[in-house]
Amino acid sequence: MTVEKKSRKQCNLLDARKKDIGEKTPGSLKIGIFGGTFNPVHFGHLRTAEEVYERLGLSKIIFIPASRPPHKNSSKIVSFVHRWKMLELAIGDNPHFCLSDIENKRPGKSYSVDTLLQLKKIYPKPSSLYFLLGIDAFQEITSWKEYKKLFELTSFVILARPGYNISKTYGLLRSEISDAYEYIEEDKLFAHPTLENVYFCEVTLLDISSTRIRELVSGRLSIKYLVPDPVRDYIEKTHIYINDEEGLKYCGYQDKARSQ
Ligand code: ATP
Repeated sequence: MTVEKKSRKQCNLLDARKKDIGEKTPGSLKIGIFGGTFNPVHFGHLRTAEEVYERLGLSKIIFIPASRPPHKNSSKIVSFVHRWKMLELAIGDNPHFCLSDIENKRPGKSYSVDTLLQLKKIYPKPSSLYFLLGIDAFQEITSWKEYKKLFELTSFVILARPGYNISKTYGLLRSEISDAYEYIEEDKLFAHPTLENVYFCEVTLLDISSTRIRELVSGRLSIKYLVPDPVRDYIEKTHIYINDEEGLKYCGYQDKARSQ
């Protein structure tokens, strides 16, 4: 690389950093997007979202439950209505969290690229989108529909999870998306001359997953302190994660709900 080319590249990277860290145009919004199955929502989701909201100075975070997630076994997913109600109960008292049913309104599988294209119309520039994603999910990103396009539409905020480390992510970003991504240690972000930034957020590590919660419930064990109390009450009342008559009455599972 010539000296001239190198310095131009450094300039571009500096601009890329300023893009999200520097002064924002008055009136522009920094919108956090938190997509997931939320089957059920738990403190791992809620605490990390709260930390990202503060650390990146976001205007708000929109939780977007996937209606028909392309990457998960649908027989284990309770209906959208149940997952939505639990999210309502979980975030209702937080003024900077809100919920969107944008993916439930669209027919077919819930692809993030379609959601982001819709959101870009609702929040055009100079507002910007920040897509929150656990490091486990980020490592699967190349299996997502039009995954390269996602990096033009939104910044990513990768959330630390126990057992995963960032070096593999850096390799993936450079080999699969663009080798022009550079890690800026002081800002904990990967900057790119033209694509959006990718942040790495070392949130409090909470080894909680929806899978574990479903396992505990079906084994008749306590989920206290893993989910907000109103969510726990809802799960206990409806038996949605228990394969008994009461659970069937609420027709929790997605396939069953759809075939009725
Ligand atoms: P499951 O166990 O059913 O796969 P999950 O607990 O990973 O579910 P999802 O609804 O699939 O929850 O997660 C939505 C997003 O939240 C994903 O990007 C996931 O990586 C992230 N996430 C889930 N749990 C945590 C956690 N404890 N800490 C940080 N991020 C998390």
